[in-house]
Amino acid sequence: MAVDSAMSSPLGPPACEKDAKALRFIEEMTRNADAVQERVLAEILTRNAQTEYLKRFQLGAAADRQTFKSKIPVITYEDVQPHIQRIANGDRSNILSAHPISEFLTSSGTSAGERKLMPTIKEELDRRQLLYSLLMPVMNLYVPGLDKGKGLYFLFVKSETRTPGGLLARPVLTSYYKSDHFKTRPYDPYNVYTSPNEAILCPDSFQSMYTQMLCGLIDRHQVLRLGAVFASGLLRAIRFLQLNWPQLAADIRSGTLSSRITDPAIRQHMTKALKPDPEMAQFLAQECSQDNWEGIITRIWPNTKYLDVIVTGAMAQYIPTLNYYSGGLPLACTMYASSECYFGLNLNPMCKPSEVSYTIMPNMAYFEFLPHQPGSTSTRLVDLADVEVGKEYELVITTYAGLYRYRVGDILRVTGFHNSAPQFHFVRRKNVLLSIDSDKTDESELQKAIENASKLLVEFNTSVVEYTSYADTTTIPGHYVIYWELLTKDSANSPSHDVLTRCCLEMEESLNSVYRQCRVADHSIGPLEIRVVKSGTFEELMDYAISRGASINQYKVPRCVNFTPIMELLDSRVVSVHFSKDLPHWTPERKR
Ligand code: AMP
Repeated sequence: MAVDSAMSSPLGPPACEKDAKALRFIEEMTRNADAVQERVLAEILTRNAQTEYLKRFQLGAAADRQTFKSKIPVITYEDVQPHIQRIANGDRSNILSAHPISEFLTSSGTSAGERKLMPTIKEELDRRQLLYSLLMPVMNLYVPGLDKGKGLYFLFVKSETRTPGGLLARPVLTSYYKSDHFKTRPYDPYNVYTSPNEAILCPDSFQSMYTQMLCGLIDRHQVLRLGAVFASGLLRAIRFLQLNWPQLAADIRSGTLSSRITDPAIRQHMTKALKPDPEMAQFLAQECSQDNWEGIITRIWPNTKYLDVIVTGAMAQYIPTLNYYSGGLPLACTMYASSECYFGLNLNPMCKPSEVSYTIMPNMAYFEFLPHQPGSTSTRLVDLADVEVGKEYELVITTYAGLYRYRVGDILRVTGFHNSAPQFHFVRRKNVLLSIDSDKTDESELQKAIENASKLLVEFNTSVVEYTSYADTTTIPGHYVIYWELLTKDSANSPSHDVLTRCCLEMEESLNSVYRQCRVADHSIGPLEIRVVKSGTFEELMDYAISRGASINQYKVPRCVNFTPIMELLDSRVVSVHFSKDLPHWTPERKR
């Protein structure tokens, strides 16, 4: 096994005794990665031996890796979905887990257009909490003095529903923020937020954001770090400030809360927190009324040391905009997690975004790795301690909550080791073509949306002969752009602007529920745009690709583009532009 000597040294020195304990825990887990993994698997199999799922594969009392690997199949969501559906419908027998399924976590990954439901059990909250408790001790190694101020984090709860059998179904962070683990967390000087719980827990996203921003402004000199879960969320907060600073400044000037904030818990909290501060209101108005918002974050929050947001994976597209608004503050990506399971953390969080590696904590679940090398047909899964530096793998997990050898869909590349625990660069999620926020649209979903929208063109004797797309993040929020090359048989009766506008909405209606929720409830995606290009444009695109070495026989139209010269070529051939005028349909009710 390769051991990266630079990273194999113990972490330290810690900032306080609590941190020392957390760092010792990381050392212990990563030094014994393989043994911990063996123990985790044995624990999961022993306690769940009598579940319907495991009994089917006749493991008996065996809890060793070899038997497990020889008998239990590697699966995707669709394989386990019938079992999940039974639990959702109210079957309380031990189907997947010996411990009762306490709720479902709704993943941003979808199946048949709907969010995947991930089973979870009560004790998983402790495991998630444990991972969270390791983040600040690591950060304190790199950034001193974080106990001398606060963090301005934009955190939100989202809508939740109940399954037909009565179990809650909600996003993992909503579940966490509503838990006592979060709500009654003990005071920790290294982890003080400007946002009150009342604002974080307010289901109305406007009132929640408004209050969190207001509190962040009031405490502006104390703010040492600014964050959101994903980069897109932090940019949305900046956009919110752009749109709402006059009212925020008015509230600060008068020391009273806008009448748009009606949530009683927030109003009660804010009567204590808000005092008239005309000087601060004047400063805010002066900064925000300028046209130039470059470096606005450090102007308003001058003591910010870093931005705490995920900018790995699809979120990397936001790095330039974050740099613009923050004047190039460090971007810290601290953890790697999902609804299925929390995976691990970045032990060097102040590194450059392109160098971020996550160390998977071997106590969180049992991890296996499916080789994902171009041209390789190997289907033999590799254990956590046996992955090789430089190679790419798909992550496969076995969780305490009843997922066995489940393919998460993330592709990771091994960059090195901390002790005997490997560290991974997040390469990409499989099959994601377009993503703005938590939405993930794959090629077949885009194809289906194009097909549905192009039905509106039939009466005009028009068809879509070629298309491609890209996620335009130059607007806040970002939006999907679809390039269409049309073939119109009767130019006297070609589709009007109005028809093409309806095509935009029809495409949005066809996209998965996470996309539609982002559009309707979260406002984190803007209206979809169709850009019609001149006939012959896609042939030019092919010529361009061939001139750069593509094989003429193997050339396929890319269904998503992000290479600047190609986008410039497409944009230079645009003949008309159309945006969705309405919102697609979305309700929090599950249809199944
Ligand atoms: P969800 O189940 O909706 O919470 O989404 C989990 C997925 O988000 C993961 O499987 C990854 O694809 C992605 N993700 C989570 N954390 C990170 C990260 N730090 N960097 C890149 N992608 C991430």
